[in-house]
Amino acid sequence: MKIVVIGGVAAGTSAAARAKRLNPDAEIIIFERDSDISYSGCGLPYYISNIVEERDDIIIYTPERFEAKKGAKVKAQHSVEDILVDSKEVIVKDLLKNKEKKLKYDKLLIATGASSIIPPLPGVELDNIFSLRNVHDADKIVDFIEVNNPKKAVVIGGGYIGLELTESLLEQNIDVRVVEKAEQILTNFDSDMADIVLEHLKEKGVEVITGDGITEFKGEENVEQVLTESGKELDCDFVVMSIGVKPNVELAQKAGVGLGETGAIKVNSRMETSVSDIYAAGDCVESTHLLTGNPVWIPLGSTANKQGRVAGSTMMGVEGEFKGVLGTAISKVCDLAVARTGLTFAEAEAEGYEVVSSVIKSGNHSGYYPNYNKFTVKLIVEKDSGIILGAQVIGDAKFAGVDKRIDILVTAIHNQMKASELIDLDLAYAPPFSIPKDGVMVAGIVAD
Ligand code: FAD
Repeated sequence: MKIVVIGGVAAGTSAAARAKRLNPDAEIIIFERDSDISYSGCGLPYYISNIVEERDDIIIYTPERFEAKKGAKVKAQHSVEDILVDSKEVIVKDLLKNKEKKLKYDKLLIATGASSIIPPLPGVELDNIFSLRNVHDADKIVDFIEVNNPKKAVVIGGGYIGLELTESLLEQNIDVRVVEKAEQILTNFDSDMADIVLEHLKEKGVEVITGDGITEFKGEENVEQVLTESGKELDCDFVVMSIGVKPNVELAQKAGVGLGETGAIKVNSRMETSVSDIYAAGDCVESTHLLTGNPVWIPLGSTANKQGRVAGSTMMGVEGEFKGVLGTAISKVCDLAVARTGLTFAEAEAEGYEVVSSVIKSGNHSGYYPNYNKFTVKLIVEKDSGIILGAQVIGDAKFAGVDKRIDILVTAIHNQMKASELIDLDLAYAPPFSIPKDGVMVAGIVAD
């Protein structure tokens, strides 16, 4: 059995490791066009802020370590240029030697991920305009900061990554302005919840401009100004673009692999594509939304790792299923943890649900215990059935236990619980951790 994997970050390595574990005799080879494999994209903001001091610390496996530990071959700096479906071959280019060769496969996994969107605006080719997707992108930002000691940055895009980057740059004593084209930051939150984060950023001295797009970058050689639709001229020493990503589907498309309506590769729950013996996983594929049943493209490392594991199983003929996503995500924005799952109020209404919501503030733990503070929970509930459709939780990143609270609500949504049933959960309580009636329970009572 010969398995070829294209792409060696989260989904590709997860699939290769799983397949090799299931069938140690299988020949598995990963082709990755980058020099790094198996790194934590999610850790890149912390490498830029220097909270993670060593580049090597965000690289989970080097190609050599992966081969030694997991038994799959890794060919870094090798790009797969073509998939020949009829002969079950790939054309691979050794990027160092600039040489191509053909290779047979029995099963093929496409784990080509996603790439940053860079809009073709005037001046976008100027120096000191960065984006952040892989370790080399992060290296460029880290090196730039080290050499130039910049004072002012513009971050374009107020999504998770833009805001995580904002924190990273503040940690490096750089003034940051965030420009977001939408009317609010964090567009996958309801605006009342996103406003909590907006206020926090303002308290941290960040100027956040919403409802304004970028029209041009100005400068001689380096970017010096960012111009906006409303006529603002924002002086800066550098820019980081974080306006989103697009799935890397060109190779799949060229081979006749079917795409879904989101534009990402369409797969079934076994990660099989429309072409036999070709599987796909990670940021290049779309998933099913567990509540609406609609195809969605929500590219996240959590999903990529799980889908990779399922692909590894099914390529080896072992049962495996990736059921879908709720769009659960958590992010640290300065001192806040910001988490969401399921549908926002606006999304639920757009899906045709009649919904009610509750927003409550609750103590993180007993008031007499040190580091007491409050977090905010929003529950979105279907009006007639009382079933929870979505939740958002925001609170202090160190002490509010936002992660456990969102995960309780994820579990509740998975089990189609009603808001009124949250109070029945036998949640853990002791003064340093919680209060007897946790905020998630109270949010359920209020929404009922
Ligand atoms: P990718 O990581 O995109 O890897 C695909 C690989 O395929 C690439 O290395 C590419 O070079 C290679 N490739 C593409 N085409 C070819 C070809 N033709 N031949 C050879 N190789 C090819 N997710 C979370 O869940 N939580 C977080 O907190 C989080 N934070 C993030 C922060 C940042 C700054 C970034 C950038 C991402 C973050 N993510 C987070 C998202 C997460 O990193 C991605 O979802 C994850 O990396 C996807 O893994 P993947 O293997 O599907 O794709």
